[in-house]
Amino acid sequence: MGAFDILVFLQKCEQCGNEIQKKFQFKYGTPWQRKFSLGDKLTWEGNPIRYNGLPLSGLIAADAVLEECPICGHDDEWSVIYLLDNVFVGADSNDGRYRFVQVGQPYALSASTTDVLKFQRNAEELE
Ligand SMILES: [Zn+2]
Repeated sequence: MGAFDILVFLQKCEQCGNEIQKKFQFKYGTPWQRKFSLGDKLTWEGNPIRYNGLPLSGLIAADAVLEECPICGHDDEWSVIYLLDNVFVGADSNDGRYRFVQVGQPYALSASTTDVLKFQRNAEELE
């Protein structure tokens, strides 16, 4: 399976509705079992030859996997995380919106501003 990093934040599970620590595994960047929260910056470390993708600026979406909900077991292999200038700004179910080409290396695509705003509106409703 190899190394991955995790983006963690509190959000309601879409299946059972309980507020849980959502954990999104991803391999974009230089994954090494690091843990990030929303607002953290993704740092790129080591030899660029080992990078998964490129440190893109702007708003991007990267392939991710949502770990099982500890209460109901819901998971989502097809998820996406959002970064703005390498800062984590959200995550969501992919729902077929971003088609990451399977080349053995994860990478990122330009993200839709609408998708990220939708995530932020949902996050505000929780508060
Ligand atoms: Zn759940």
